Amino acid sequence: MAQWHDGKIVNRVDWNDHLFSLQFECTAFPKFKAGQFTKVGLIQDDNKVLSRPYSLVNSPNAEFLEIIAVPVENGSLSPKLHELQIGDEVKIMSPATGFLVLEEVPQSETLFLIATGTGVGPFISILESEEAWSKYTNVVLVYGARQNSDLAYSDKIQTWLSDKPEQFRFVPIVSREFNPNALKGRIPELIASGAIQQKCGIEFAPTTCQVMLCGNPEMIKDTLEVLSTFGLKKHLRRSPGHISLERYW
Ligand SMILES: Cc1cc2nc3c(=O)[nH]c(=O)nc-3n(C[C@H](O)[C@H](O)[C@H](O)COP(=O)(O)OP(=O)(O)OC[C@H]3O[C@@H](n4cnc5c(N)ncnc54)[C@H](O)[C@@H]3O)c2cc1C
Repeated sequence: MAQWHDGKIVNRVDWNDHLFSLQFECTAFPKFKAGQFTKVGLIQDDNKVLSRPYSLVNSPNAEFLEIIAVPVENGSLSPKLHELQIGDEVKIMSPATGFLVLEEVPQSETLFLIATGTGVGPFISILESEEAWSKYTNVVLVYGARQNSDLAYSDKIQTWLSDKPEQFRFVPIVSREFNPNALKGRIPELIASGAIQQKCGIEFAPTTCQVMLCGNPEMIKDTLEVLSTFGLKKHLRRSPGHISLERYW
């Protein structure tokens, strides 16, 4: 049953002036699956909780819960979350929920994790889990952002690159700044042109790939369309396919 818990901010990381991560201490929070989301909220003057869904970035085994977010212009909650400091209190709802989890994704040779912006959050949690590395021969993280500083968690990504050089590939994409190591442009076009496949050395094929998509709904819509030209279709329990997804708005 849904239940509010008290959470206290124990750490925050400002990746730049808008992109931030918050870590909460919430000892009573029940176990969740990597890739799931929960509701985070703040108590208002009328004593009601103003809340929105946020994916959990941390490993299910971690001591703290973590989210990554941006203050959306004129948004009701996210600008308030952006102002929070260590020691501030939040409300966190249990249980975490959502189907962007590996147990819902069929076995295959390659797992593509494709995210824009804060959509990378659930994939960081998934990459922290042992299951990603034991279930798939190749794991590719495709991570699109506007600016170089919007590419968060680069220390973790570098560790996976060093620890799993054969298994893990990383394809950063920056749309509005030059980055010698990143592709430039939009994910759907970079798949259509073959640039992402060339960068990671793996093709999209229904016989060998599962794809997880998370973030901006436009990216998801257009990526679904372009992946369909390679024979990949949305995965549903009742109709197995190749693409699992979560839209953030
Ligand atoms: C399952 C799920 C998981 C989510 N996980 C995350 C997460 O991990 N991190 C995160 O930052 N957000 C996440 N979101 C979005 C989040 O719940 C809020 O919508 C967002 O923080 C804006 O809330 P708000 O109250 O400030 O804006 P509101 O007043 O509710 O305005 C909502 C509008 O803001 C816009 N919007 C929402 N999210 C974004 C965004 N990230 N970038 C640009 N515009 C946006 C959309 O136009 C949307 O209609 C998730 C949403 C869903 C459904």
